[in-house]
Amino acid sequence: MRASSVAVSLICGPIVCAYVAFAACFCPSRLHRGSESEEKRRFERRQKMAPRPLPVRPPQRSLTLPAPSTTTDIEKGDGVGGKAVDKTRKTLDQSRSRLMRLPLELRQMIYRAAIGDSTMHMILKEQKLGHLRCKAPSAVECPLGFNGRTLSRECCWGTVDSANIWAPLSGSNEPTDGNIVPLLRTCRQIYSESINLLYSTNTFSFSDLDCLRYFSCTVLPHRFALLQTLDLEWCMSWPIYDPIAQQLLLNNPALYPPNDEATWEETWRIIADMPNLRFIRVSLLYFDGFRDPTCEEKMLAPLRRVTRPSRFEVHVSWQGDEVRGAPFQLIRPVSRDASSSSNSSSSSSSSSSSSSSDDSEWDG
Ligand SMILES: [Zn+2]
Repeated sequence: MRASSVAVSLICGPIVCAYVAFAACFCPSRLHRGSESEEKRRFERRQKMAPRPLPVRPPQRSLTLPAPSTTTDIEKGDGVGGKAVDKTRKTLDQSRSRLMRLPLELRQMIYRAAIGDSTMHMILKEQKLGHLRCKAPSAVECPLGFNGRTLSRECCWGTVDSANIWAPLSGSNEPTDGNIVPLLRTCRQIYSESINLLYSTNTFSFSDLDCLRYFSCTVLPHRFALLQTLDLEWCMSWPIYDPIAQQLLLNNPALYPPNDEATWEETWRIIADMPNLRFIRVSLLYFDGFRDPTCEEKMLAPLRRVTRPSRFEVHVSWQGDEVRGAPFQLIRPVSRDASSSSNSSSSSSSSSSSSSSDDSEWDG
């Protein structure tokens, strides 16, 4: 075994050296050992700023109708008969409201126009999450940039700090609710009638794996389960699933979350379990691409468990082999050779998607 390891090292050595030199050209900070302690500081700050998940047994919510004295939700949920009634909870007669005199179907059309059918950028804030309504006509048209550390959408968000926590120039008091919360807080009836539309009709856009993980555990599970459309961008800053490159680039060969394999797999476990997910669009940035196709295979393996969406696109920034038998459509950048030699193919994608291409779904 030791002899074979030495042989593999001798064979792989020149390839890895070439890879490291190539990586140095595109991302010099990776080769600075000091950047590891910087990664550790970022990780520690993100840990400190992480939102607290909901308790296992969520507190009794006071916003949703009907009142707990008449509903059986809580009684069913705890199995011991939650008979406690929130005495601070009041409901007033809304029969004089013109809005409430409309049929429910019309009211829901109004709610949907007000708080649905948009793209919501989910962002990390200090010990909580925020959401910003996309200013572009659709998530696809929202400019995506790289701010030196991670992917960002500065036209919609403003700026983030080195730990990817939202840092608006106007101060942390700037609201991030996209004008959604005021309507929901108008009255319990409006909240109860519209809250599901918020989750089921909007596209939720994430540019941080932790943000998606936190979102899944800070909203009620039955609300999170309503999500139908997901947009995920992720920059792989370190050589994921590549132990040889990690050994070379890191003093302590371990990646800090969320750049590690465990966070990647946990994120895809959450997505695979989303029962109503219909559309998912993923954009992955990796500066130098994968040194070894087997590393890319390992990276894509958790995505293969996501089988519910009718449309699943994975856009990657690097070239590579065709991927077969996957539930997603892998779309690689158009190579110069392919674009000059033929225009018969719509792109250099390797497709195994079960759905036909229909871009209208993403055009908002
Ligand atoms: Zn946007």
